[in-house]
Amino acid sequence: MGHAVLVAAELKGLVRPADLDGLDVTWLGAGEATPAGDWVALVSLLSRWVGGTEFKNLPKLRVVANCAVGFNNVDLVAAEMRRVIVTNTPDVLTNATADLTWALLLAVARRIPEAVEHLKSGAWRGWHPELLLGLELAGKTLGIFGAGRIGQAVARRAAGFAMRIRYVARSAKPELEAAVGAERVEWGRLLSESDIVSLHAPSTPETKGMVGPEALARIKPGAILINTARGDLVREEPLAIALEEGRLGGAGLDVYQDEPEVHPRLRAAPNVVLLPHIGSATRETRAEMARIALANVRAVLAGAAPLTPVYR
Ligand code: NAP
Repeated sequence: MGHAVLVAAELKGLVRPADLDGLDVTWLGAGEATPAGDWVALVSLLSRWVGGTEFKNLPKLRVVANCAVGFNNVDLVAAEMRRVIVTNTPDVLTNATADLTWALLLAVARRIPEAVEHLKSGAWRGWHPELLLGLELAGKTLGIFGAGRIGQAVARRAAGFAMRIRYVARSAKPELEAAVGAERVEWGRLLSESDIVSLHAPSTPETKGMVGPEALARIKPGAILINTARGDLVREEPLAIALEEGRLGGAGLDVYQDEPEVHPRLRAAPNVVLLPHIGSATRETRAEMARIALANVRAVLAGAAPLTPVYR
C-alpha cells in the first residue's frame, strides 16, 4: 500500500502513471468538501480553500501541494502551526501566463472580440477608414504592477512592441531595467502615466482591492487595465462604472473576485474582454504543473526536501 493522498480529480487527465508511484490516491471531486481522515498529502487546486478546519480534519497531513503558483487559497499560518509543508508550481507557468496577458492586452487594444462579432453577425459592409479603431501600442507606456516572474516576462515581451515600460515593485529589478529599459515608479505614477496597467502581484492583505475607486480616479483617462493575477486585486463594481463612464478605455480580465461568478455589470460593460481564468492553460504547462505538484508530494513523503516550497 502506498501513502494515502488526496488529489484533485480535475487533474486525472494530466497525470502520468509514474507521477503516482508509491501513492494510494483518493480523487477529490471539484464540488466535494475536503474530507476528514488519515490522508498524508493533499494536491489542491486554487478553487479549494485549505484552512484551519481542513488541517484539523486531516491530522496526519504532511504536505499541501497546490497546483498553481498563487497560494492565497491556503492558510499559511494554520499550515505552519501544524508543520504542514505547502508547495506551489512556480516558473513552469510564467511563459503561458505572460502570453495570455498579451493576448488579452491585444484583444482589448485592437477590439478583437468586437471585430469578430462584427463580421460574424453579418454587419460588415467592407473596409472603412474608421472601422473599429483601436490603440496603437508603439510609443505607449505599459505599467507593470508586481515585477516578479510573470510581470517581468510580460515586460520583456513589451520590448518587441516598442513600448515604454514602468514597474512597481517592493525591490528594484536592475536586470529588468538593463534588459528592457524599464523604470521603477510609485503606484501613483504608474496609474497616471501608463496607457496600459497590467497586474502581476499575488493576492495579499496589501494588494486586495488596490484597484478601487481611488486608483480608478487616478488612472490616466482612457487607459486599459489588464488583470491576469488574482480577481480580488480589483473591485469589480467601481471598475464596471469606470468603463461605463468611459474614464477607462477598456479592461481585459482573466480572474475574478468570486469565481466562477462575474459581476453582472462587468459582463455588460463596454470594451471589456473577459476570459475564464485560462492564464496557464496550455497543454505543456498544465501537465508540468500536475507533475511538479505530485513530485513535491513524493519528495516530502520520502523524507526529502520539497522541490518548490512556498516558505522555508
Ligand atoms: P512572483 O514571481 O512571486 O511575482 C510577484 C511579484 O509581486 C513579486 O515580484 C513581488 O515582490 C510583487 N509584489 C508582491 N506584493 C507586492 C506589493 N504589495 N506591491 C508591489 N509588488 C508586490 O509570482 P509570479 O509567478 O509572477 O505570479 C504572480 C501572480 O500571478 C501569482 O501570485 C498568481 O496569483 C497569478 N497567476 C495567475 C495565473 C492565471 O491563470 N491567470 C497564472 C499564474 C499566476 P517584489 O515586489 O518584492 O519583487
